[in-house]
Amino acid sequence: MYLGIESSCDESAIAVFDPASGRLEEWLHTQVQLHGKYGGVVPDLASREHMGNFPVLLETLLSESPDLKEGVQQIAVTRGPGLAGCLAIGIAMAKSLSVAWKCPLVGVNHLRAHAFSPFISIYQNDPQGFLGRLKQFLPHVGLLVSGGNTLLFELNADLDIQVLAETVDDAAGEALDKGAKLLGLPYPGGPQIETIAAKGGDPLKYPFPVGRPDKDLTRFSFSGLKTSLRYFLENFDRNQLESALPDICASYENAVVQQLVIRTRKLIQGSDIPFQSLGLSGGVANNQRLRTAFTELGQRLGIDSLFALPQHTGDNASMIVFAAYFDSLLPDKRGIRLDLEPSLRLEM
Ligand code: ADP
Ligand code: MG
Repeated sequence: MYLGIESSCDESAIAVFDPASGRLEEWLHTQVQLHGKYGGVVPDLASREHMGNFPVLLETLLSESPDLKEGVQQIAVTRGPGLAGCLAIGIAMAKSLSVAWKCPLVGVNHLRAHAFSPFISIYQNDPQGFLGRLKQFLPHVGLLVSGGNTLLFELNADLDIQVLAETVDDAAGEALDKGAKLLGLPYPGGPQIETIAAKGGDPLKYPFPVGRPDKDLTRFSFSGLKTSLRYFLENFDRNQLESALPDICASYENAVVQQLVIRTRKLIQGSDIPFQSLGLSGGVANNQRLRTAFTELGQRLGIDSLFALPQHTGDNASMIVFAAYFDSLLPDKRGIRLDLEPSLRLEM
């Protein structure tokens, strides 16, 4: 059994992974309601919550699987990127458990874990055949879209990661959250925008900017989109806002999706790398419009589209324990250093 611990932001999570069967179980506490009151994550509150929540999660886990402590072969913990105070609590707990249970401890790059998350279900379908099957998906191009990151990367045949494009300002999830805030919707805004857009909203009603696709393809940029919504709302008749909300949400959501998909397509088509699969991970990967657009993109390019399962998209410990196991299979044991690193980059 492998144990994973995640505490980089506002989710406290512990997961247990059995590589032989592929079984993954997760115990997670989200603070989303608490931070919702403030319109975003309050770092100090988040670390205090982790302090209270981890012992409860651990007690639940141990009451449900009392012999776990004898069976844990390795503990994996998120070492960054994330909020320093939050990371520290997960790492302190992981270190204590590793001393008490006398098992090795490894650190995991949270972004690398997101990058591998679309492969979890493939592993679970056939644990023994996984490494052979994985080769058919490489080189892989992945889009990692969350509240804090927007990254397009290559995962090559040696399982090395190279960033191909990233945001120069807001992340895609941040653009949705900030847009929702301007519209008076609660935090986190991404799911709110999706729900309202789905009430028959017309994605082409309002032409929000999708970023100039002829400009540098290695850059995503969403701050102009958010500003355009602000100007749009300044000139919009407030009495009409409620009835126009589905169209506004659908058009805004569509602008985010179009920028992601158009740039991804152009980068793939302009690259000489023979990509075999396309992946989508991170919290925004839950978005149905984006998933549909990615499925279509994969079909158009004639390559497989792989999606992280919903439970592996936001912050979670399953992807942490899976990434640690994945890296332990590599001959050079890449990426398993333990030092805390709040601003860790994907390739590290
Ligand atoms: P981070 O840890 O970087 O904040 P997460 O991976 O936890 O990111 O994802 C949270 C982000 O995902 C938020 O910005 C949220 O609005 C966005 N998100 C979650 N679900 C959806 C959805 N269905 N559609 C669009 N965005 C979503
Ligand atoms: Mg989060």
